[in-house]
Amino acid sequence: MRAVCEVCGVPKLIAKTHSWRDGCIVDNASGNANFCFYEVSFHNALFAKVGAELGMPLDNIILNAGRQASARVIEDLLSTHPLLGKIAFKAPLYHLTQKLLVDFGMSIGIGRIEILEHKKGKRGLLRYIDPYNLPHCTAILLGSMDVIYDNPVAITLREEEDGSFLGELKPVGKKDAVEDEAFLRLASEDLKPRRPAVTRELPACKKCGVPRDIGSLYSFDLEKGIITEQLNRERAVLLGVYSLNSILREFENELGRDIADLFIRKEEESFKKKLAVTLLAEELKDMQQIRDYCCLRGLGMLTEMVEEGDKTSFTIENAFIPPMVAGRFLALCEYRHGRSCGYDYSLHGNTLSLSVSPA
Ligand SMILES: [Zn+2]
Repeated sequence: MRAVCEVCGVPKLIAKTHSWRDGCIVDNASGNANFCFYEVSFHNALFAKVGAELGMPLDNIILNAGRQASARVIEDLLSTHPLLGKIAFKAPLYHLTQKLLVDFGMSIGIGRIEILEHKKGKRGLLRYIDPYNLPHCTAILLGSMDVIYDNPVAITLREEEDGSFLGELKPVGKKDAVEDEAFLRLASEDLKPRRPAVTRELPACKKCGVPRDIGSLYSFDLEKGIITEQLNRERAVLLGVYSLNSILREFENELGRDIADLFIRKEEESFKKKLAVTLLAEELKDMQQIRDYCCLRGLGMLTEMVEEGDKTSFTIENAFIPPMVAGRFLALCEYRHGRSCGYDYSLHGNTLSLSVSPA
C-alpha cells in the first residue's frame, strides 16, 4: 500500500484520521480541532522574538505544552482504532504501533526519525534528522513516549557532526517524574469546533476525501518527514492546535498578562514578508478566497467581512489560535492599504472579532 493518496498525494494516515470541517482540521476520533498548517519560519521566528522581547527562554514552556499536546494527539490517533489501541502495546504488535507513530510524525512534517534500538520499558536509541524546532520536536517525541510507556520518559539529544541528533530514551519511574505545577496546568483543553453561521464544503479528492487543494498547495515527503508549501517552496508543518493554544495560555499564566498583541505583531511581520515576495495576495482578494485560505489550513471559519470606508471588520468562528489569524488578516489589510494599520481585537468563546483600519 502506498503511504500517500495516489490522486492528491496527501498521506493516507492523515486522510483516514482527519476531516476538514467548520474551518478546522478535525480529529475524527475526538472531534477536536487538531492541526493547522504553519510555516516553520513563522513558528521559529515567533518563539525567538517573543522570547527575546519577554527576556526569558521559552524552551520549558514549549517542552511542557508540546509534550501534553502530543500525547493527546496520539491518544486520539490510537482511539480511532479501538482494537489497535488495546493491543497496540503488547509484543509483538508493539513494533507495529511504534512504526505507526513514526509514520504519523513524518506525515505531519516533524522530520525523519529512525529508531536504532528500542525495547519497551527499557532504554532506546533514535536518530532524528531535520527537526523543525528542537524544543518543540523533543516535546513531540516525549509526548508520544509518554503514551507508549504509560510512564514518563527522559530524553537526551546530542547533535552529531552531520547535523542529525542522536536521542537516548530512558524511562523514569512515576515517582521520580518531575510533575511540576506548570506541566499539570498545561493539560490541553477540548477544542471542539461548533457549526458556524456560514459553512463551506471544500471540493474533495474523490479518492481520499481530503480537500483536493491540499495536495497542490503542499507536498509531503514521507521519506524525509518534510512538508513543503509549493507557493514558495518553504517548509511547513501540521502543527498541533492544542500545543500553541496551551503555550499561549501558559504565557498568560507566567506573565500575568495577555500576550496576544505581541503574537499578532510577530505573525503580521512574518506574513507581510511572505505577501511581499509571493503572489499570494492575488489569491486573497475577496471574502470567499480568504475564507477558503483559512479553512484549508485549519485556521477557522471566516463568517463575516464588512468593509466601511477604510475599515474592514472580520468575524472568524472556531479560531482556536486567534492571534495567528488576526496577525495574518492585519498583514493582508496593510498590504492592501500600503501602510501600517491599527486594529481592534476581541474574543467571545472561540469567535474572533477583528477590525482593521489604516493608522
Ligand atoms: Zn486524495
